[in-house]
Amino acid sequence: MRALFVGRFQPYHLGHQYVVKCILEEVDELIIGIGSAQESHTLENPFTAGERVLMITRALDEIEIKKKIYVIPLEDIYRNALWVSHVCSMVPPFQVVYTNNPLVYRLFKEAGFEVRRTKMFNRSEYQGTEIRRKMIEGEDWERYVPRAVAEVIKEIDGISRIREIAGKR
Ligand code: ATP
Ligand code: MG
Repeated sequence: MRALFVGRFQPYHLGHQYVVKCILEEVDELIIGIGSAQESHTLENPFTAGERVLMITRALDEIEIKKKIYVIPLEDIYRNALWVSHVCSMVPPFQVVYTNNPLVYRLFKEAGFEVRRTKMFNRSEYQGTEIRRKMIEGEDWERYVPRAVAEVIKEIDGISRIREIAGKR
């Protein structure tokens, strides 16, 4: 069985990493869809799709996985009624969707997919919005992301990017 997990991953954090590990215990292959792939250089979406691919791929190298994982960017189409078909046209066939997002849940359910909710891990800290706030405020953000993700963010000078966008210097 092949599963789909969608997020924006701005950035890919330890909550995502835990979910991925849990999903991999239940399925044979996993597709990680990177939503809002066209977005970058904004406060909500500081990192490009390519940078997010790099974060996820390297973070997955940190954990031992024998199963196939496909990391695929998905551009927004701004039309919810057609979104599931759009996703299906961009990724390998899948049978089950993992999400806690109510809209994603509803859209895949209506399209006839099996949809499963995931556990939340330390959501107060493992949360993209909160981690981006810490990056801007100069607080410790590294402990909330896989080591490999912190390395990618430093490599691309991500902190000065997000601080500059926020008008912090
Ligand atoms: P943002 O605050 O930017 O929305 P986020 O942490 O919610 O970031 P997303 O990329 O929006 O991350 O989430 C993608 C998926 O990951 C969603 O299905 C979401 O429920 C799940 N997720 C996010 N954080 C956690 C967490 N701490 N534990 C488990 N699942 C999580
Ligand atoms: Mg979210």
